[in-house]
Amino acid sequence: MHKAQLTSGTYLITERPGQGALRWFLERAAALLCEREGPQACGMCGGCRKVKNLLHPDLHVMVPVPSSAKDPTAVLATWREAVLDNPYLLYSEWMAMLGAAGKQGNMAAAQVRTFQEKAALHAFEGHRKVFLIWLAEYLGKEGNILLKTLEEPPEGTFFFLITQRPDRVLPTIRSRCLVYRMPTLPIEDFVTEAKRYGVSEQTARAFYGITRGSIGLLRQLQNDEWEDSRHRFEQWQNALKSGDRMMLWTLADQLHAEGREGAKTRIDHWLLMLQQGLDTRQLRPYDAMTLLGILETLQEEIAQNIHIRHAFFTRSLQLMEKLSALRQARLHQFVTV
Ligand SMILES: [Zn+2]
Repeated sequence: MHKAQLTSGTYLITERPGQGALRWFLERAAALLCEREGPQACGMCGGCRKVKNLLHPDLHVMVPVPSSAKDPTAVLATWREAVLDNPYLLYSEWMAMLGAAGKQGNMAAAQVRTFQEKAALHAFEGHRKVFLIWLAEYLGKEGNILLKTLEEPPEGTFFFLITQRPDRVLPTIRSRCLVYRMPTLPIEDFVTEAKRYGVSEQTARAFYGITRGSIGLLRQLQNDEWEDSRHRFEQWQNALKSGDRMMLWTLADQLHAEGREGAKTRIDHWLLMLQQGLDTRQLRPYDAMTLLGILETLQEEIAQNIHIRHAFFTRSLQLMEKLSALRQARLHQFVTV
């Protein structure tokens, strides 16, 4: 979008987690708040530099916080540090940073009111103001306070709402936005960007398909959490094979303790590993497909408020029976042939 053509507006940017909407937004914000004329940010002026450091007085941000956060606005300093370090920040990483891994975040009424008040003020430096709601799916019914402002933003005011779950954004808000879908990063750009974060070209190419071009996911796959997932996945497969119910129970307990969001992330990792065929060389293709099916069901169940420990244990037992039946069938085949 050419900044000269814009006077105000409300945009809903949809992306898959870690796909780069935040990075894209920062470029747009710099272009809008740049002090020089021209369609793009000059990258040199005070305005551009302040946006780059997320410190521009006319750039306002609202992010989800855990309900345990006593001062939601103080949390913004942490968010700023996090995003400066990694503009592909994932929601799960963000909540973990606040010591609320696995907890549900939201935007408190006080945050929304502050946001609304800022929209009514005049711009401090130039003639434009830029507002970001990062992960608008966590904006609950309090978001309705903003409806009028979002529908007709004051002259020179721009709202950008980033979401990874457009289906969960309040319909009243969604209907007031122009929707822009983040395109998937082409593989060559993905590799270049991955290298900036210390990921080798070979690894980046191997993970392009499975992360569907998400740098955020790629980064996450490089960290300790992924190693932990890998280890537990191995334990789970062994327990299923040997019929170790105690181990299954322990794993169910661990998953339960991680909370709903944490458990979802963990199952996501396992699905990724399965789809990529990592650590599953001991699995026969048909067994891997059975595992995949059950994990997908489990993922849906966890998203729907089911009791995590119980669901995991029950599904594991079901899986154990299926795998054993498959083994029997193979044995039988072998004997009769
Ligand atoms: Zn500039």
